[in-house]
Amino acid sequence: MKIDILTLFPQMFEAPFSFGIFKRAIDNGGVSLNIHNIRDYTHDKHHIVDDSPYGGGAGMVLKPGPIFEAVEAIKAGIGDEPLDVILLTPQGRLLNQQVAQELSQKKHLAFICGHYEGEDERVREHLATDEISIGDYVLTGGELPAMVVIDALLRLIPGVLGSDESALDDSHASGLLEYPQYTRPEDFRGMTVPEVLLSGDHARIARWRREQIIRRTLERRPELLNKANLGLEDKKLVERLISAQSQVNKDRES
Ligand code: SAM
Repeated sequence: MKIDILTLFPQMFEAPFSFGIFKRAIDNGGVSLNIHNIRDYTHDKHHIVDDSPYGGGAGMVLKPGPIFEAVEAIKAGIGDEPLDVILLTPQGRLLNQQVAQELSQKKHLAFICGHYEGEDERVREHLATDEISIGDYVLTGGELPAMVVIDALLRLIPGVLGSDESALDDSHASGLLEYPQYTRPEDFRGMTVPEVLLSGDHARIARWRREQIIRRTLERRPELLNKANLGLEDKKLVERLISAQSQVNKDRES
């Protein structure tokens, strides 16, 4: 996979590229990451990338020219190969595990990091092929959102996670939340590890973990259960947990 990032602040990517998942993706996952400074695609003496909005109003807007030229320079180097051009914007479709999975299958992604009041609308209309938001809040620039999206997709590329890590059991991988995890010591200040995890009985552990997955998701994100692929046993457990909870509520009221 090739990833190009268009930004006004290339230095922001230096640390993430040097450690952890980004570095492993480059070293082991066959991923090439390239940063482009949008300012390098200006033609005036002062390398101006923004201007005031037509119609008036506060703030500055990124001019279309440098962004178009930066993407065109990438396209010129790849001929007919496909390129997905992703605009980071709070108005885009929301990032979730499914979107990360979808992006992890792509051959070549270019991320446009906006700034100020955002970018000229023509970038969205005529250059971007996708728009992604990392949540319903507004950040100052698209650099942190780009890092979040790229981290989420890189860890799904085979070879990027170490052999002792797996994305398969993670929360949201199957549409549900992960079971609780424990490690040594067995007794930490009187807080003990559930007995079943020490039993060595793998079938019992698997049943316990599945129950925890359902229980946690029901408690914290019940809406996820409606979309999840639940087996018969899972459904029975959901019914039992819901009826136990409604009994508790009734007892409280009486
Ligand atoms: N005026 C824009 C609006 O209301 O839609 C917001 C501009 S924001 C201050 C500047 C840049 O930060 C955006 O162009 C975008 O690249 C990035 N950004 C801010 N919040 C974001 C989010 N939730 N998801 C993705 N990108 C975001």
